Amino acid sequence: MVDDTDLSVWSLPMRVRFRGIDVREGVLLHGPAGWGEFSPFWDYDDVECVPWLAAAREAAYVGWPLPVRSSVPVNVTVPAVGPERAASIVRASGGCRTAKVKVAELAQPEGADLARVEAVRDALGPDGRLRVDANGGWDVDTAVRMVRLLGRFDLEYVEQPCRTVEDLAAVRRRVQVPVAADESIRRAEDPLRVARLAAADIAVLKVAPLGGVAACLRIAEQIGLPVVVSSALESSVGIAAGVALAAVLPELPYACGLATLQMLSGDVTSKPFQVREGALPVHRPEPDLVATVAADGPTSLRWRQRLASVASHT
Ligand SMILES: [Mg+2]
Repeated sequence: MVDDTDLSVWSLPMRVRFRGIDVREGVLLHGPAGWGEFSPFWDYDDVECVPWLAAAREAAYVGWPLPVRSSVPVNVTVPAVGPERAASIVRASGGCRTAKVKVAELAQPEGADLARVEAVRDALGPDGRLRVDANGGWDVDTAVRMVRLLGRFDLEYVEQPCRTVEDLAAVRRRVQVPVAADESIRRAEDPLRVARLAAADIAVLKVAPLGGVAACLRIAEQIGLPVVVSSALESSVGIAAGVALAAVLPELPYACGLATLQMLSGDVTSKPFQVREGALPVHRPEPDLVATVAADGPTSLRWRQRLASVASHT
């Protein structure tokens, strides 16, 4: 069970509003294996949060397999900002040679996506790799049209162009650009369905929503697709779990989406993960600054109640 004395609740404003979120919050759990993070987004109900708690408990009480590599290549993530800001984010990325650009943002015209992707391609140069993530925001016809329009900027892949697995499969049949599945894996009852329906070329795996490093390794084995490990916008404690997964995968052909700490206005540690030459080192930071980013009383209470409620489902 969760011992309340070994809990810390943190809260950090986002630097840029990202997927509708302005503040990131979570709980750190401490156990014999180290620190684990429980930070599900608030649109996840208690049952959906069970894997997040399993991942936090794995980190705190079980630990992870030994790494087979000492660093993990990462992409810079470009939110739905204007083209100048997008280019400056790429230039300040610590040498990332891969960029992921958010597209299909609600209430933005399609021209904004094209301008943002073009600016990122210019900032990366022709040798950089560029992927886009629609977070399921397009219908099939819009996805096909936009992927063809954006294709002139040489896309590595398009992530979650549509919401359903069936629509991903339909898009994949109609475009040349490879399709990656993210939400269709992490919020699906059956993460392997994308492979059975030939709906994706690449699987995006996130440790927390999929229940931990060991659970992700099993999915990676069964799904039979190349894997991109991505974060759920955690603090450095949660990022360490993603890095641990990326560090044990037998093959890692794509840069991982783990360089997301710069979207937070701070961190729980004085030794946060830092991108150097486009990669993160494999290590496990101590959350020595968690007291300085502690959540206020009501927020802390809300998270302790949420944790207890989720734990009652396990
Ligand atoms: Mg995604």
